[in-house]
Amino acid sequence: MSWNAWRRKWLTEPVYRRVRAAVPRLSPTEQQAIEAGDVWWDAQLFSGHPDWTAFRAIDAATLSDQEQAFLDGPVAELCGMLDDWDVSWRRYDLPADVWAFLKRQRFFGMIIPTEYGGLGFSARAHSEVVRRVSLRSVTAGVTVMVPNSLGPGELLMQFGTQAQRDHWLPRLADGREIPCFGLTSPQAGSDAASMTDTGVVCRRPIDGVDTLGICLNWHKRYITLGPVATVLGLAFKLSDPDHLIGDKVDVGISVALVPTNLPGVSIGRRHLPALQAFQNGPNQGADVFVPIDALIGGVERAGQGWRMLMAALAAGRGISLPSLSAGACVFAAHTAGCYARVRTQFGIPVGRFEGVQEKLGRLAANAYLVEAARRFTCSGLDMGYKPAVVSAIMKLHATERMRQSVNDAMDVHGGKAIIDGPRNYLGSLYRAVPVGITVEGANILTRSLIVFGQGAIRAHPYLMREVLALADSDEEAGLEAFDALIWKHLWQATRNGFRALSMAWFGVPFGKPPADAGPTAVFYRRLDRYAAAFAMVSEATLFSLGGALKRREMLSARLGDVLAELYLLSAVLRRWLDEGRHEADLPLVRYCMACGFATIETCLDGVLLNHPSRALAFALRAIVLPPLRRAKPPSDALLVACARFLLEPSGVRSRLIGEVWGARGNPSVEQLERAFDLAVQAQPLVDRLRHGGVSDWRLAHAKGAIDDSQAKLLEDAESAAAEVIAVDDFSPDALARGR
Ligand SMILES: Cc1cc2nc3c(=O)[nH]c(=O)nc-3n(C[C@H](O)[C@H](O)[C@H](O)COP(=O)(O)OP(=O)(O)OC[C@H]3O[C@@H](n4cnc5c(N)ncnc54)[C@H](O)[C@@H]3O)c2cc1C
Repeated sequence: MSWNAWRRKWLTEPVYRRVRAAVPRLSPTEQQAIEAGDVWWDAQLFSGHPDWTAFRAIDAATLSDQEQAFLDGPVAELCGMLDDWDVSWRRYDLPADVWAFLKRQRFFGMIIPTEYGGLGFSARAHSEVVRRVSLRSVTAGVTVMVPNSLGPGELLMQFGTQAQRDHWLPRLADGREIPCFGLTSPQAGSDAASMTDTGVVCRRPIDGVDTLGICLNWHKRYITLGPVATVLGLAFKLSDPDHLIGDKVDVGISVALVPTNLPGVSIGRRHLPALQAFQNGPNQGADVFVPIDALIGGVERAGQGWRMLMAALAAGRGISLPSLSAGACVFAAHTAGCYARVRTQFGIPVGRFEGVQEKLGRLAANAYLVEAARRFTCSGLDMGYKPAVVSAIMKLHATERMRQSVNDAMDVHGGKAIIDGPRNYLGSLYRAVPVGITVEGANILTRSLIVFGQGAIRAHPYLMREVLALADSDEEAGLEAFDALIWKHLWQATRNGFRALSMAWFGVPFGKPPADAGPTAVFYRRLDRYAAAFAMVSEATLFSLGGALKRREMLSARLGDVLAELYLLSAVLRRWLDEGRHEADLPLVRYCMACGFATIETCLDGVLLNHPSRALAFALRAIVLPPLRRAKPPSDALLVACARFLLEPSGVRSRLIGEVWGARGNPSVEQLERAFDLAVQAQPLVDRLRHGGVSDWRLAHAKGAIDDSQAKLLEDAESAAAEVIAVDDFSPDALARGR
């Protein structure tokens, strides 16, 4: 007997049979969800030894001339047309001319290919549009976002029949049809697959012709664009009791396109989500009949709805909310920095107080990191990947960091950001934060179940194929595949254990950072160390807990956080390279790295402290977290250095803030920027007077201590600051109900 045959018979087979009997079978829905989408850089991180040469070779996403022209033209024009106060507080809707402009300029067809009349934009361009429009008005941003994300457009392009594409895509691209997507029902929110909405295959006469079709009954809620939609992408459970389309009675979750003017459809009522004015509402259908070719992808795709939805989400989820969040983080950092410079208390700008600088430093670093991750993710999407785990990481962590940044900016602004009115440029964003946290997969669930749960299976080099081998209905074929995988898997796990130990204890440099990494090379080595540690702890946890890990959500969430930090920190290193390796930007990189490394160690620590196997946890801790080589949080000096980037004009600030499009057409932000410029110009003079014991510059002017031009500068700065710190007030009548 050869060694391979012996190994298979005496080692692999007993393990295979035991595990096969013990592991619960995957439900078809679980299997479809796991298989949806692709893996990308996440798979490299999961392997425990990321290939930095491949990382450097990833093409940075760029904009074509046509895409840039769209940003400079229609997007800028749209931003100029939007008045968010008017939209959110007076109309509860976008004005008719804005709706017409959005349709005419094909904002709803950004992802639809040009041959169907769409704009055929890259992920980067799509993301830029969403980012810029959302900053001017979240209502407009969400309105643009939905048809280009979950809306039926993506589903049609990936799964529609040619006839469906030919009919629907041109109509969606030019806004003749307004789409929405209905998955969520009152009883089925996060557990959307448990929906009770039904479709029964049947025959009915239509215009006197006997027609094969589906009788639909549903109740959906929270559906964005629903109240104004002309076509509803509907998810429901399809059954075929009379076997009109096949053998199965319970066909499974399917997706159909339902015109909203059909008899039996009730649509039009509105929710008011966090006082945002984008169209959102419930809808119901009672005995609505659609022909069978309303099924997206036709009868062949009947029952594949869950997989189709997961695949469509894998692309859109990586763009929509991350783009809004990246814009929001930059906007929060920019406005907080300007305000902290303009607003004085105790005789000096509040930005000079360390307490405020603590918030500003974090704002600056968050803005740098989320924007880096947005750009990096667009690169993957533009390479054609639909990375399911990366999209979940982006959705979760970009929106969480947006929440932190918007909260920090609110704190720095004090009462100014709390009092609502046209002068408040932060209030609307603040109210929009929970929308981002909840939609496209609520964050608690995404963190607890999806990132590591799906990541472990999808991004792991062997696990998914092993799971499929264990589930193979042909036991012999399954055993053969399992035998081919499990030994490679064990070899990799052993190698990762050795690497994790050598790097953690002795700093052995295994990985090879990019040749141009310069002073950031050290960070690549740290990421190598943590990737190996993560791979090892993940393997050990999966091995000891198996399917029970699904119920230990806190462990899964912490492991997911480690994977997410590895991804986000990779993106930071990539941004620094792509932007031209500016030494001056390094404090931002260092701050992100220090925070990220500390988070990784805290999460690993949390996993090991709560691990059910104490002996295993003890051994793992000894390997990956040596007591004398623990991560330290960023120093106060580093925090202050990052904060200063928001308080002083500089190249770093220009790269960090870029062009803040919220300012376009937003008078209160324009005023803030003007006051900031004046405050910067006037500061040396103000400091000189203060050190000379002069508190009133008018007296100094009267005594001839400053000249007319200096007095004019101080007067302008003072009046600009007064405009900025002013807040709105209203007559009681103006606030009466029924405006
Ligand atoms: C403004 C807005 C717009 C929306 N637009 C659309 C749309 O266009 N189309 C559409 O179909 N849907 C839409 N939704 C629905 C959205 O996707 C759901 O709100 C979301 O999936 C969560 O469902 P739920 O609100 O019922 O929360 P629930 O399911 O009730 O969950 C409550 C909390 O429990 C957590 N939770 C649930 N299960 C678990 C678990 N196993 N582990 C850990 N935590 C868990 C959730 O994360 C959440 O924090 C929208 C929602 C909102 C608010």
